[in-house]
Amino acid sequence: MSMNTVREPAVLGGEPLFPDGLPLARPALDDPESAIRRLRGVLGGNSFTNASLVAELESRVAEELGVRHCIAVSSCTAGLMLVIRASGLSGDVIVPSFTFSATAHAVHWNGLRPVFCEIDASTLTVDPAEVERLVGVRTSAILATHVFGTPCDTAALEAVARDNGLRLFFDAAHAFGSVHAGRRVGGFGDAEVFSLSPTKILIAGEGGLVTTDDDVLAERIRYGLNYGNPGDYDCRFVGLNARMSELHAAVALASLEGVEGRVAARNEIAGWYVRALAQLDCVSLPSVPEGDITTYKDFTVMVDTEACGLTTAQIARALEAEGIETRRYYSPPVHRQRAYAYLNGSRPDLPVTDRVAARVLTLPLWVGMSEDDVASVIFALERIFASADRIRAASGGGG
Ligand SMILES: *Cc1c(COP(=O)(O)O)cnc(C)c1O
Repeated sequence: MSMNTVREPAVLGGEPLFPDGLPLARPALDDPESAIRRLRGVLGGNSFTNASLVAELESRVAEELGVRHCIAVSSCTAGLMLVIRASGLSGDVIVPSFTFSATAHAVHWNGLRPVFCEIDASTLTVDPAEVERLVGVRTSAILATHVFGTPCDTAALEAVARDNGLRLFFDAAHAFGSVHAGRRVGGFGDAEVFSLSPTKILIAGEGGLVTTDDDVLAERIRYGLNYGNPGDYDCRFVGLNARMSELHAAVALASLEGVEGRVAARNEIAGWYVRALAQLDCVSLPSVPEGDITTYKDFTVMVDTEACGLTTAQIARALEAEGIETRRYYSPPVHRQRAYAYLNGSRPDLPVTDRVAARVLTLPLWVGMSEDDVASVIFALERIFASADRIRAASGGGG
């Protein structure tokens, strides 16, 4: 398509840049045939229940990540719930608010209180100094998120946990393939939990993986995902049914092929965005710590809404008119969601989180996107910013 012939933003009546649509994400499966071959084996044999593919997935992941235990579960949410339950925690758990809701939900479902913590304005991961400031007599654990795949400051968090006798867990839903301090994410803290849901880096359809070097915790999580039953039907604690099925393990094993290549490809696409966005004054990017590798599970940018004269919602609507799918990860932040309105009086003051959440816009990024696709997204943004006054007028000036 020739960009010169498309002068008006689609939201003002111009031709959309992507008439067929540009999706936000695509499932991460290099070779669907290899998933189908394994599925055929499951459906045709009697391996529905013998869990050999689940065991193969667990041992391959444990080896790749260099951890003693990998336990497959039915979702990351269930994995987080089980890690907390199996640790026998009580009281409060410090969590970020700038994360997916499931991080805090896992705490609440255990009858514990999430204490929302501020993030670092540059990396958008939890701020260890703020975590330390929030530690109180009731605090039993920290659950931090490697947001968008960017690793947390694990050493600082490990020091806070050690100094205060707290457990430390990571919501690693986005971070399969991330590298921090020369090590694959998976072995930090007491346990890490990955998500294998369809938009993640490693996918199973639905699923999760808990990784840990703690033998006792691993054993209790294994009972926990089976109702709390270690096999003798004398449940040791109230668990869940959170088993991963063989069908899901078949897909996950296929998706495990080529993870590193996909992470490299995602980083290349992100690089195209980063270079092109450097020319847009009103857009800034979260930073990735020097030497670390992120997965860019989401490519989220921050828009200076005052400088560009449009709200993030107005920009998202204008991009939608171009056929470009976006999200706003993470807005509203968890502490502002209605599910947590009960915190009312004790609602935390999180100015950095609120400020970042008002500005976030998540742009399409998936393996197979071309450099032209990226250039067209940037061109769309440029056109929208250049027509901000008219777009604002057309939308009645409101949000
Ligand atoms: C997707 C996601 C989850 C939930 O994962 P499920 O496997 O869908 O339960 C938890 N935390 C974060 C940060 C996520 O992005």
